[in-house]
Amino acid sequence: MATVAAAASPFAAPHEMMARAARPAAAAPEATTTMDLGQVLRLSDFDKIADLGDGASGVVAKVRLRGCGSSAVFALKTAHYCDGGAEVEVEALRRVAAGAGPWGSWSPHVVRCHAVFRCAGGEPAMLLELMDAGSLGRVLAALRGEGRRGLPEPALAEVAARCLAGLAHLHSRGVAHLDLKPDNLLASARGDVKICDFSVSRIFLGGAGERRRVPVAAGSTAYLSPERFEPNAHAGPRGACAADVWALGVTVLELFLGRCPILPAGERPSWERLKKAICDGEAPSLPASAAASAELRGFVASCLHKDPRRRATVAQLLAHPFVARRDGEACRRQLREIIVETM
Ligand code: ADP
Ligand code: MG
Repeated sequence: MATVAAAASPFAAPHEMMARAARPAAAAPEATTTMDLGQVLRLSDFDKIADLGDGASGVVAKVRLRGCGSSAVFALKTAHYCDGGAEVEVEALRRVAAGAGPWGSWSPHVVRCHAVFRCAGGEPAMLLELMDAGSLGRVLAALRGEGRRGLPEPALAEVAARCLAGLAHLHSRGVAHLDLKPDNLLASARGDVKICDFSVSRIFLGGAGERRRVPVAAGSTAYLSPERFEPNAHAGPRGACAADVWALGVTVLELFLGRCPILPAGERPSWERLKKAICDGEAPSLPASAAASAELRGFVASCLHKDPRRRATVAQLLAHPFVARRDGEACRRQLREIIVETM
């Protein structure tokens, strides 16, 4: 088996080495690992098992910590470049891990980062919790391949609840995700769904808590809210969080319909067509003919106000009946069954 990132420096800087055990929080029953990681590790301690992804910002591989048995498997995301974007991703991960020290506490709704190594050219390599069912984009494609539509409402309500809890965590730490979509929601055979990929995230609170205006134009076009198409689009904390809420609304619609909800079924999604539909058209919504509950319709409409000031906040959405009145047990079971069926 090939050693991961052969070009990597054998030594990570001390503060970048994995330095503490994963500590499952009392309120996080789906805590991610029981392995004791309280040892100093290097990139060269990991063997590559398989490729997991190759996207705009980096390559992702499944890796195993040598000599630790089959349970010590992770995802290793290595940035293509050592540039500002990669550093923002690392900084966002540090912010998200706020609490009891570096990498010390994590939300059960955000893919956990255990450590950041440095490759020879300075590119960060992020050691992540492995999500063994891949992305919800993959789950959706598998359902389509079987002639099924998207997720049924109970499973979808569970996904929405988890995304909202993850977003609440990010926003409380001054991080706007800005690229929420099915491909950036990762699933596990246990039925977890967690937010990943901070490659276009922005940090809207400075170190002393000061509010910043951040650029928000970058992201995946189909999930951009209308105001993000403005030339040189920037937003303060409230606006950056509202951008995530719009993307959540589009994501929920897509997961329900099983296709991009911005354009008519079958139409090729060019940048121009998407921009026109998002900026000039009506806010996306469920077709009248869709068999959807009033709660789901209301939830989506609350996310997808074209005016960001009228969009619901994450806190309001957490109290929305679509999420708050779901039967948690039944929803979790259905979501887990669907994820496992598609693996
Ligand atoms: P990019 O910025 O290139 O989109 P991502 O962080 O979204 O990078 O990773 C790309 C893909 O790699 C994901 O869509 C997913 O399929 C896979 N991947 C990323 N992180 C993990 C992980 N922790 N566990 C399993 N698969 C992952
Ligand atoms: Mg991604």
